Amino acid sequence: MNKPDITLNKIMYKPDHKEDVEEYPVYLIGEVDTSWSQMYIYCTGCSRGHHYRKSMDDNLWWIYKCPHCETVSAHFEEFEEEEEEDDE
Ligand SMILES: [Zn+2]
Repeated sequence: MNKPDITLNKIMYKPDHKEDVEEYPVYLIGEVDTSWSQMYIYCTGCSRGHHYRKSMDDNLWWIYKCPHCETVSAHFEEFEEEEEEDDE
């Protein structure tokens, strides 16, 4: 099976309701519309974590590419409270 071709677009994001949070990079997976969800996921290749964002849809699978080592990984979004992680 060929690996999916994933386009990442890096943006800088600062949550406007969090004064104490520094602007951080977010990697947009493909085209992202106005309704999106964002997640902090770790690469299965190099174990580095990054923030990713994709359009909100019924697909709970996140197919993402690590901007560091370009490993393509899949992550299943589960319905649980996620802890805030700090990007190094
Ligand atoms: Zn990686």
